[in-house]
Amino acid sequence: MPFGHDMVHSLATVVELVNTSPSTRGDEGLSSLADLQAFVESREISGVHTLTTRDLGQVRIVREAFHRVFTATDQPTAVRTLNNLLAGTRITPRLTEHDGHALHVHYFANDATLAEHVAADCGVALAHLLVEGEAERLRTCSAPDCDRVFVDESRNRSRVYCDSRTCGNRMHVAAYRARRRA
Ligand SMILES: [Zn+2]
Ligand SMILES: [Zn+2]
Repeated sequence: MPFGHDMVHSLATVVELVNTSPSTRGDEGLSSLADLQAFVESREISGVHTLTTRDLGQVRIVREAFHRVFTATDQPTAVRTLNNLLAGTRITPRLTEHDGHALHVHYFANDATLAEHVAADCGVALAHLLVEGEAERLRTCSAPDCDRVFVDESRNRSRVYCDSRTCGNRMHVAAYRARRRA
């Protein structure tokens, strides 16, 4: 994929966020402030102030909006859904080279909440993906009992499972057993 490192990082962040949702993994992956803090640390989200339960609620709302972009049945629906999200987000492009990272653009405002931060940076990353005509790379896992989302970064857009080591491997084993029984 012809996407820069920042964009790949933001797309991985939105995937990880959406996959904390009860509608993708079956239970609430962001049930406490500790969960939210762990997400911030695992995704190295910068400039985050002390988190409150208000942040937790706001991030869950943004998360569900992002999930709707992933599950949109066609590009116009994805565009409309993303535009709704972007319309409610303050976006302030700013060049930065914090923490030893190469010069890159932040889209969240200086005083952004965590939800605004994620909505701005991940929202812009998804916008670029749609502009590149790559909406079909936004996928939901094909395993029958898994609703996790992922971004298919494979060259020939052939990836169907959220994780080849878990769902992919599980499904291959199931197919192998089915063949042996036949
Ligand atoms: Zn940064
Ligand atoms: Zn899966």
